[in-house]
Amino acid sequence: MAEVLERHVALGEPLGREAQAHLSACGACQAELAFLEEVHQALLEDVPEVAPPPSLRTPSLEVAGPHVRAPPCSRWVLRPW
Ligand SMILES: [Zn+2]
Repeated sequence: MAEVLERHVALGEPLGREAQAHLSACGACQAELAFLEEVHQALLEDVPEVAPPPSLRTPSLEVAGPHVRAPPCSRWVLRPW
Protein backbone atom coordinates (compact mmCIF):
# COMPACT_ATOMS: atom_id res chain seq x y z
CA MET A 1 0.00 0.00 0.00
CA ALA A 2 2.85 2.36 0.80
CA GLU A 3 4.15 1.96 -2.75
CA VAL A 4 0.75 2.87 -4.20
CA LEU A 5 0.64 5.94 -1.99
CA GLU A 6 4.16 6.96 -3.01
CA ARG A 7 3.31 6.74 -6.69
CA HIS A 8 0.09 8.62 -6.06
CA VAL A 9 1.92 11.48 -4.36
CA ALA A 10 5.14 11.55 -6.38
CA LEU A 11 3.81 10.77 -9.84
CA GLY A 12 0.21 11.86 -9.53
CA GLU A 13 -1.08 8.35 -10.22
CA PRO A 14 -4.76 8.12 -9.34
CA LEU A 15 -5.63 5.82 -6.47
CA GLY A 16 -7.67 2.82 -7.52
CA ARG A 17 -11.05 2.08 -6.00
CA GLU A 18 -9.58 -0.58 -3.74
CA ALA A 19 -6.82 1.73 -2.58
CA GLN A 20 -9.31 4.47 -1.82
CA ALA A 21 -11.51 2.06 0.11
CA HIS A 22 -8.50 0.84 2.09
CA LEU A 23 -7.34 4.37 2.70
CA SER A 24 -10.71 5.46 4.09
CA ALA A 25 -10.62 2.56 6.56
CA CYS A 26 -6.94 2.52 7.47
CA GLY A 27 -5.58 5.20 9.77
CA ALA A 28 -2.00 4.09 9.21
CA CYS A 29 -2.27 4.67 5.47
CA GLN A 30 -4.00 8.01 5.99
CA ALA A 31 -1.07 9.09 8.14
CA GLU A 32 1.34 7.69 5.55
CA LEU A 33 -0.36 9.63 2.79
CA ALA A 34 -0.29 12.86 4.78
CA PHE A 35 3.39 12.32 5.53
CA LEU A 36 4.24 11.60 1.90
CA GLU A 37 2.39 14.69 0.70
CA GLU A 38 4.28 16.79 3.21
CA VAL A 39 7.65 15.41 2.10
CA HIS A 40 6.75 15.77 -1.56
CA GLN A 41 5.72 19.37 -1.06
CA ALA A 42 8.98 20.11 0.76
CA LEU A 43 10.92 18.60 -2.12
CA LEU A 44 9.07 20.73 -4.64
CA GLU A 45 9.86 23.87 -2.68
CA ASP A 46 13.54 22.94 -2.51
CA VAL A 47 14.01 22.68 -6.26
CA PRO A 48 14.09 26.00 -8.10
CA GLU A 49 11.90 25.69 -11.15
CA VAL A 50 14.03 27.88 -13.40
CA ALA A 51 17.26 25.88 -13.02
CA PRO A 52 17.85 23.67 -16.05
CA PRO A 53 18.83 20.06 -15.36
CA PRO A 54 22.57 19.26 -15.66
CA SER A 55 21.91 17.40 -18.91
CA LEU A 56 20.93 20.69 -20.52
CA ARG A 57 23.85 22.64 -19.13
CA THR A 58 26.68 20.43 -20.34
CA PRO A 59 26.11 20.77 -24.11
CA SER A 60 25.93 24.58 -23.93
CA LEU A 61 29.28 24.66 -22.15
CA GLU A 62 30.79 22.44 -24.84
CA VAL A 63 29.44 24.75 -27.52
CA ALA A 64 30.91 27.78 -25.79
CA GLY A 65 34.36 26.19 -25.53
CA PRO A 66 35.62 26.49 -29.15
CA HIS A 67 34.60 30.16 -29.29
CA VAL A 68 37.20 31.10 -26.71
CA ARG A 69 39.93 32.85 -28.69
CA ALA A 70 43.51 31.77 -28.40
CA PRO A 71 45.82 34.51 -27.14
CA PRO A 72 47.66 36.35 -29.95
CA CYS A 73 51.07 34.94 -30.70
CA SER A 74 53.78 37.27 -29.44
CA ARG A 75 56.72 35.40 -30.96
CA TRP A 76 56.43 37.22 -34.29
CA VAL A 77 58.82 39.89 -33.01
CA LEU A 78 61.56 37.24 -32.87
CA ARG A 79 61.30 36.41 -36.56
CA PRO A 80 64.40 37.35 -38.53
CA TRP A 81 62.95 39.72 -41.11
ZN1 LIG B 1 -3.30 0.58 5.26
